[in-house]
Amino acid sequence: SLAKFPHQCTLEGFDFAAQPSLDARQVRDLAACRWVANGDALLIQGPPGVGKTHLAIALGREAIRHGHSVLFAPATALVTTLVGGHAEGKLEQRLAQLAKPKLLIVDEFGYLPFEPAAAHLLFQLVSRRYERGSILITANRAVGDWGTVLGDEVVATAILDRLMHHSHVLTIRGDSYRLREKRRLGLFK
Ligand code: ADP
Ligand code: MG
Repeated sequence: SLAKFPHQCTLEGFDFAAQPSLDARQVRDLAACRWVANGDALLIQGPPGVGKTHLAIALGREAIRHGHSVLFAPATALVTTLVGGHAEGKLEQRLAQLAKPKLLIVDEFGYLPFEPAAAHLLFQLVSRRYERGSILITANRAVGDWGTVLGDEVVATAILDRLMHHSHVLTIRGDSYRLREKRRLGLFK
């Protein structure tokens, strides 16, 4: 399967001891991928550097191991694909393509505010996949801020309504793992 992961991250390589805010049992349970088989959504939220993308890739690998098709897409790239498809009269084709994988991983939602057109296009994508495929979203903004990120409170609510209907949430708190490692090595205070 062509998941297009930007790099390789595994669950074995995740240091759970360094991340006490995370329930390791819940993550290992998610690794069994019943949520993917069921078409549920998974939201991984927390500040930058705490391992959201690492866990998203690791769980994506587990989904592939369980025989599911997986597509990994940075949120900005996904929006570019949809906005471009809309402009070129190829939206239907792009939506159909993005609805195909059993699991779609949308990474780094919330780093940039989206243009209003993007909110409607993302809503169409979420609706298309709703109760068919799974979505895993990593976000550095709380769901209460999604209206601001999307530039549209009504569309944000409609998207969250579908995502949260059958969903799992991992909330990670604490310090950036990168900075923590630098501190440990004495490179940074
Ligand atoms: P986020 O997506 O939350 O910004 P990343 O997943 O990109 O954070 O993590 C930043 C870096 O730190 C990555 O190289 C990742 O592999 C590593 N990392 C983060 N948390 C852990 C952890 N608990 N154990 C091992 N590596 C981690
Ligand atoms: Mg990330």
